[in-house]
Amino acid sequence: MNIGQYTFEEFKEIARQFHGYPAPGLLIGGYMVELAKSHMPEGTLFEVIVESNKCLPDAVQLLTLCSTGNNWMRVVNLGRYALSMFDKYTGEGVRVYIDTEKIEQWPDIADWFLKRVAKADQDTDLLFAKIKEAGAAYTSVERVTIPERFLGHKQMRAIGVCPACGEAFPTNDGPICRGCQGEAPYVTMDQRSAPLVSPNIEPFPLRRPWARPPCTT
Ligand SMILES: [Zn+2]
Repeated sequence: MNIGQYTFEEFKEIARQFHGYPAPGLLIGGYMVELAKSHMPEGTLFEVIVESNKCLPDAVQLLTLCSTGNNWMRVVNLGRYALSMFDKYTGEGVRVYIDTEKIEQWPDIADWFLKRVAKADQDTDLLFAKIKEAGAAYTSVERVTIPERFLGHKQMRAIGVCPACGEAFPTNDGPICRGCQGEAPYVTMDQRSAPLVSPNIEPFPLRRPWARPPCTT
């Protein structure tokens, strides 16, 4: 079965180029995205919320204009293989999910999806053939409305220069940037010269690593 404008083989190749390899979940996701699109009235400006951070976000990014970078696709990782596509103004749309009853009619796909077979024992070619044959047969669609707080793009917020690191950040985040509030997911290995403190921002009383007194032990 085709995936939108692509044959299965074409999409498999596109998936390989974008994702590194043609993950079964990405191919399944392709059918899910196309099914959701088929429920959108012609000309609807839509956005997508994806409930898994595995594979499915890439299916959305390959088959729609929604991406994580333009913020028309968001991942709310609930651990479920599902996506909601909705009118960006009204919030009305559909949610497409893997139906665990229907999938049992496709035992090879069910065994893979529910991880009932060890990876080494999987017949990947057979799995791909079944995914191609089934299309969206084991998914279900439900109508959803996305609450208003998830709609619309936030106004561009005021930007300041963080007095601790000297980088720009949205001032709504506080007197210093979130990185300097302890959320940075790394340890800096390189020395940096101390940043200028913006004259418009009250320096925050912060223990700065470079201002630490020399070690005296
Ligand atoms: Zn900072």
